[in-house]
Amino acid sequence: MSRVDGNAVAGLLAEIFVGDVTMLRGVCGECASVSTLAETDVELDAQAAIVRCRACTVTLFTVLRAGDGSRLVVGSLRELDGH
Ligand SMILES: [Zn+2]
Repeated sequence: MSRVDGNAVAGLLAEIFVGDVTMLRGVCGECASVSTLAETDVELDAQAAIVRCRACTVTLFTVLRAGDGSRLVVGSLRELDGH
């Protein structure tokens, strides 16, 4: 085990977010349900997209729209798998 700074995970994160993000598979931290992003329920308005677990309705994460881009607020999403 070596201790480095966050630059070391950039390549690993890029492996997760490569390709079609709708096929990212997440695990709900509330009910342990596994689903792709495409299978989640989303509440959408001008300010935000609230992404909910279809099985238990808990908020997995929220994407906030800001003037200078978007911001991801992590909720009950436990795992995210790019494969
Ligand atoms: Zn759930």
